[in-house]
Amino acid sequence: TSAELIDVIERRSAHNYHPLPVVIREADGAWVTDVEGRRFLDCLSGYSSLNFGHGNPKIIQAAQQQLQNLTLTSRAFYHDQFAAFCAGLGDLTGKDMILPMNTGAEAVETAIKVARKWGYEVKGVEPEQATIIVMEDNFHGRTTTIVSFSTDPDAHDGFGPYTPGFKIVKYGSIEAIREAIDANTVAVLLEPIQGEAGVLVPPDGYLTQVRELCTAEGILMIADEIQSGLGRTGRTFACEHEGVVPDMYVLGKALGGGVVPVSAVAADADVLGVIKPGQHGSTFGGNPLACAVGNAVIEILNTGEYQERAARLGEVLHGRLREMVGDGVVTVRGRGLWAGVDIDPSLATGREVSEALMERGVLAKDTHGSTIRLAPPIVISEEDLLWAVDRLAEAIASF
Ligand code: PLP
Repeated sequence: TSAELIDVIERRSAHNYHPLPVVIREADGAWVTDVEGRRFLDCLSGYSSLNFGHGNPKIIQAAQQQLQNLTLTSRAFYHDQFAAFCAGLGDLTGKDMILPMNTGAEAVETAIKVARKWGYEVKGVEPEQATIIVMEDNFHGRTTTIVSFSTDPDAHDGFGPYTPGFKIVKYGSIEAIREAIDANTVAVLLEPIQGEAGVLVPPDGYLTQVRELCTAEGILMIADEIQSGLGRTGRTFACEHEGVVPDMYVLGKALGGGVVPVSAVAADADVLGVIKPGQHGSTFGGNPLACAVGNAVIEILNTGEYQERAARLGEVLHGRLREMVGDGVVTVRGRGLWAGVDIDPSLATGREVSEALMERGVLAKDTHGSTIRLAPPIVISEEDLLWAVDRLAEAIASF
């Protein structure tokens, strides 16, 4: 039973997460089924890793086919899926080159290493002096370097000594970036929409200003599109909403189709070309199975269908959520099929609302106290989407 499994998991796994008490056994499209056969509508999508739905036939078929052919070579040799992956993702991002990794945090680490090396070799920064400007309330992953510049005490505290070389500024303020830039600055690293912070959308024009400032100052703009990218916001990349092209895209999550971890950095040759043999890598990065799945994802994105669908359903979602403001909802933010809903903290915590939602058949997760994040698979039907929002209204009204 769910209760028995949860009991073992709570005793035998580290408590680095606090999951909702549901044990999922199978899934299809936007729906999951637990071990007792109860069905739930997934409104989290594995933190936007399942943009194309659970069990997407095209992705599963690519994975199954590849499982039969070849799963791993390591990068000591070439394999037949790698060319299509690099060329396809390069074309999708408009960049010359791809550096594949596995998890999001690894791709962010890669971007940091590339930016530093670029700073020393191309920009001429003094050895060991490179700084990268990052944002308050960022979320870029869990490695020691990345948590060094997290402003979330849970993510940061107790894990020092910390990696130097980062300046933290207020998100959404171009002035704050301008003031932080000096001769040692090599890059600005940001999320075009801050997901874990509560789906925070920066002020209109901010990304354009960051782009212009980075160009003027001769520093790299790095967009962490791990959660915001690949269809979620109604465009392939969230930066596109302002017509902005960063120097480096950091991608992950949905790139692996919800099947395997696939991440990558995309940049032009004058940037990514600074990495030479032996200077960076990963045993599993760019493996045949990852590339085959990634190739299916790229094909799906090339049709534009999911971006269009996320934009259209996003209108429906945000229209309906806006009507709830005042009824236990303080504010609603987001773009496309991605929303942060701030619950009146005097009513209930985000956790309590998530639990009440689960009882009503919808799985969503709170973030930062009283925010509920909604990010269903883009395959969700309009009917199911509206049903989920009605359940949210009901869950809030129950407090
Ligand atoms: N960057 C962003 C914007 C994220 O949302 C996440 C994960 O939530 C990461 C990086 C880290 O990705 P991973 O958990 O795959 O290391």
